[in-house]
Amino acid sequence: MTDGQEPPFWRRKRLEEMTAQEWESLCDGCGRCCLVKLEEETDEGGPGPIHYTSIGCRLFDEATCHCADYENRQARVPDCVRLTPAEVRSLRWLPPTCGYRLVAEGRDLAWWHPLVSGDPETVHRAGVSARGRVAANEDDVPDEQSVDFIVEWPRRWPRGAKGPRPPAPMDKPARRSYSPTRK
Ligand code: SF4
Ligand code: SF4
Repeated sequence: MTDGQEPPFWRRKRLEEMTAQEWESLCDGCGRCCLVKLEEETDEGGPGPIHYTSIGCRLFDEATCHCADYENRQARVPDCVRLTPAEVRSLRWLPPTCGYRLVAEGRDLAWWHPLVSGDPETVHRAGVSARGRVAANEDDVPDEQSVDFIVEWPRRWPRGAKGPRPPAPMDKPARRSYSPTRK
């Protein structure tokens, strides 16, 4: 750094080196990982592609994009994954925008991450979060109907969400004036 300031922790520490508080703060609060996922089987019975759905976990609070019982989540939802550095590097379904995945891949956080913006709402404003995109609660959808809820957006970056700064506001189209002509 030329200004003599130390880089923020996520740029200089490995996942294993972070304090518990730093680790927790790396979560951007998008809630994408709290959507139900479906794993296909290959013809040989092996693991196939994993699909996201718009079905929320039974403890997912869509309005806040937080877990309704974070402390007891694994007792209440046994297949809820408690992320560790090893899990972050091996899970096949973490969304490309996930703060843990970005740091594990040696990439920087984007402008809307609360650690960068200082504002927990920017993850929603950037269109990254699951707010407003949950179609059903897992308790209300029979397993055989889950496939009808498959969605692609959690695997993508929303437009304008990449990079260290928010996109510049669109320029207003130039006003044109017309005057009648006769030839
Ligand atoms: S996908 Fe990653 S950043 Fe988003 S809520 Fe889950 S753990 Fe946090
Ligand atoms: S138990 Fe909580 S943290 Fe785990 S998937 Fe469900 S809502 Fe998310």
